[in-house]
Amino acid sequence: MLISDLQISQVNNQIQALRKAGSFYGKKLEESGISGITTPEEFESLPFSEKNDLREAYPLGLMTAPEEDIVRIHSSSGTTGLPVIIPYTAKDVDDWAIMFARCYETAGITNTDRIQITPGYGLWTAGIGFQNGAEKLGAMVIPMGPGNTDKQLKMMMDMKSTVICATSSYALLLAEEIEKRGIKDKICLKKGVIGSERWGEKMRQRISNELGIELYDIYGLTEIYGPGIGINCIHNTGMHYWDDYIYIEIVDPVTLKPVPDGELGEIVITTLVKEGAPLIRYRTHDLSRIIPGSCPCGSKFPRLDIIMGRTDDMIKIKGVNVFPSQIEEILKEFPETSSEYQIRISHLDGRDTMRLYVETNGTIDFMDLSRRISEKVKSRVGFTPLVKVVELGLLPRSEKKSKRVFDERYE
Ligand code: ZN
Repeated sequence: MLISDLQISQVNNQIQALRKAGSFYGKKLEESGISGITTPEEFESLPFSEKNDLREAYPLGLMTAPEEDIVRIHSSSGTTGLPVIIPYTAKDVDDWAIMFARCYETAGITNTDRIQITPGYGLWTAGIGFQNGAEKLGAMVIPMGPGNTDKQLKMMMDMKSTVICATSSYALLLAEEIEKRGIKDKICLKKGVIGSERWGEKMRQRISNELGIELYDIYGLTEIYGPGIGINCIHNTGMHYWDDYIYIEIVDPVTLKPVPDGELGEIVITTLVKEGAPLIRYRTHDLSRIIPGSCPCGSKFPRLDIIMGRTDDMIKIKGVNVFPSQIEEILKEFPETSSEYQIRISHLDGRDTMRLYVETNGTIDFMDLSRRISEKVKSRVGFTPLVKVVELGLLPRSEKKSKRVFDERYE
């Protein structure tokens, strides 16, 4: 999506606020000699930002509004080293609730719905974001937080919850419990709003079928408000995102050059009206693409595809960026293959080669299947792999997440 004149002037305002506050990014922009932008070219010359930079600003170095205007902080989980602290003004909190309410509306949820919220409350942005959006919408919130499945199910039945907000794994657990306890007829759920992570179509089908509900993927990250910056509509053709609050670019994760709409790359987000901690060209490391064209729902908001994985998973082969998720998506179109596969990359006679191992049962013509998969990969990804079809059960299985990609070029 080309940046609009309005968005450019909004980014320019963010730059002015950052410089004036002399906050972490204000100083960075100052050092780069950037005093403002007026054109798309100038926007594309702005430096990127990353989570590691934000950590350097710990604890309050990102604060860009005066302290008296800050009403809350949130923090993203610090699995390695320092967490990131994001300060919010009252307007930021309200803007986030407006965006989140819009997500619920896009999913067809109204003020007569009863929304059971199972993501956690506290420093991170999950539970409280779901709650503020629901209250802005005027729906009735049942603020459960995570865990305690007995109580979740009791409240779900007694309060006749119509919407469940959860991670995909917790939604699946609840679905299985409902099935196991035979209480499906006492459950009034109609819709599920699922925090967007990468989750397979099979899992989606299971949750949707067992609970008999429509599922919606909600996108967001703590650094940029939190969940609620985008969601799919009933047509399920990607997540509409709110381009009056954020500008999204998709860039090649290696060259960092923007890619055309429709092409896979890294999601980079710029806030347009944030006060507490504006972010410019923030690299999310999430992979997706902008979906070109318009949605059958008629919404004017652009669409982002579901999250396809993380840039850290990327493999570069024959000059082409490949993500294991792309290969996985292709294999899903071959019902004759199992869910197991292995990708092995090697360097032979001066050339990179990808060998793709897939499993099938003995009734299939291995050579023919190999040729068809190889052709599909060539047409989608741009190079031809060597597809090795093996008997069902030959690829290793593990309780934990199986290692599926082996790069033997550097061994
Ligand atoms: Zn739509």
